[in-house]
Amino acid sequence: MIEIKTIKVGMLQTNCYILIDDKSNEAVVIDPGDEAEKILPELEGLIVKFVLLTHAHYDHVGALEAVLRATGAPLRKDEEEITFGQETLTVIKTPGHTSDGVCFYAQAHNYLFAGDTLFYGMYGRTDLPTSSPREMVLALKKLAELPPETNVFSGHGRPTTIKQEKEFGTIG
Ligand SMILES: [Zn+2]
Repeated sequence: MIEIKTIKVGMLQTNCYILIDDKSNEAVVIDPGDEAEKILPELEGLIVKFVLLTHAHYDHVGALEAVLRATGAPLRKDEEEITFGQETLTVIKTPGHTSDGVCFYAQAHNYLFAGDTLFYGMYGRTDLPTSSPREMVLALKKLAELPPETNVFSGHGRPTTIKQEKEFGTIG
């Protein structure tokens, strides 16, 4: 099983996620956006294998250096798969909000960590530097192909599901 800890950090209340494989105690940190002092205590007793970013906006990377330094874990982003303990995350490239945007998909549990690509009831802004409305359409099409029951954990705000966002008309 994956245990998910959500820590809201910084002015924009970015969701920093800590995913823990409860068998091995190995963990990854997604988007350490700010407030390392809130994140680091949650990592105590864990073997942090990797630090992951959904994209490099400042509100997602503010505590990156501090978390890398404290854990000694490497930063990973452009791999196809990330493994920690018994768990595997598939990296889905989703440019649109930014050109470097990715989502992390835990297929075994139907969890998607979507960064600022998809939120509850809306998709991410496409009017920022390196944004592309056209690529966002393609990214959302990719996400629409995931199982409807997929739980979506976004970069800000509450979680949602692929089914819910299809009903809202946010995706496909
Ligand atoms: Zn962003």
